[in-house]
Amino acid sequence: MLGTASQAPTRQRNQNGYLLRWDGTGFLFDPGEGTQRQMLLAGVSANDVHRICVTHFHGDHCLGVPGVVQRLSLDRVTHDVHAHYPASGAEYFRRLRYAASFHEVATLREAPVEQAGVVATGSFGTLEACRLDHRVETFGYRLVEPDGRRMLPAALSELGISGPDVGVLRREGVLHRRGRVVRLDEVSVPRPGQRFAFVMDTRLCDGVYALADGADLLVIESTFLAADAALAAEYAHLTAAQAARVARECGVRRLALTHFSGRYPDPRPFYEEAAAIFDGDIVVAQDVSRIPVPSRRERDEDAGR
Ligand SMILES: [Zn+2]
Repeated sequence: MLGTASQAPTRQRNQNGYLLRWDGTGFLFDPGEGTQRQMLLAGVSANDVHRICVTHFHGDHCLGVPGVVQRLSLDRVTHDVHAHYPASGAEYFRRLRYAASFHEVATLREAPVEQAGVVATGSFGTLEACRLDHRVETFGYRLVEPDGRRMLPAALSELGISGPDVGVLRREGVLHRRGRVVRLDEVSVPRPGQRFAFVMDTRLCDGVYALADGADLLVIESTFLAADAALAAEYAHLTAAQAARVARECGVRRLALTHFSGRYPDPRPFYEEAAAIFDGDIVVAQDVSRIPVPSRRERDEDAGR
């Protein structure tokens, strides 16, 4: 959590900025103004950034792009960095990218989001975008890791399976061993893929639910408290209560609330409002803090163990 304020920074909160470490890939979401320095405070280097994902082109979600982009070159980041943003804002991105003179040596590949759907695939799984409902074109993002299987060492050794045979079994699903056929499901259990969802400025809409569906970690804006629901509707934002209802209905495991309006000096009511609705894990995000993606669901019980 690099920054957690909406619109204008406060003494306690910087404008938006979120770095997701997803195995070996770093996703930088919505770098607002000051993100470069927040990265420093959080111990994140330019080398940790592989993809930049911008939901929309209001300043609190993108004014950090110039600093971050220039830092990639200053630090001579050698891997390609990919940038995703609503295609309708390509002109804004171009201006942010070249807002000032610098020696461009890093490779930044732009892949604007034209429509909802798959944005990128890789070792991280699938990065998808869904349309949200704000005052300018906005896309939320989610990461979906494919389901896999976790091998059970005890079951493998019982059957004398080791080394390259494990790979064969994984790839082909069966292995001929000691005159019989061993099936993959005898020596492994399902390993459900993990999901991360990032929902920024929006009214409640289908896209919010589609993104949040089954998320292990949902990072979602809750600009307002329910007492100010009229303001939330007027400015096309969510309340903490709405975010909590989404988390409850979508089977979210950990709910991270952020993008708070500066009108609320005390963050506790956001927790209380959400906790009255959602009984999962709730974190009211703070700047320069870490929120772990919950560890994998264990489904050993499903396999009768
Ligand atoms: Zn915003």
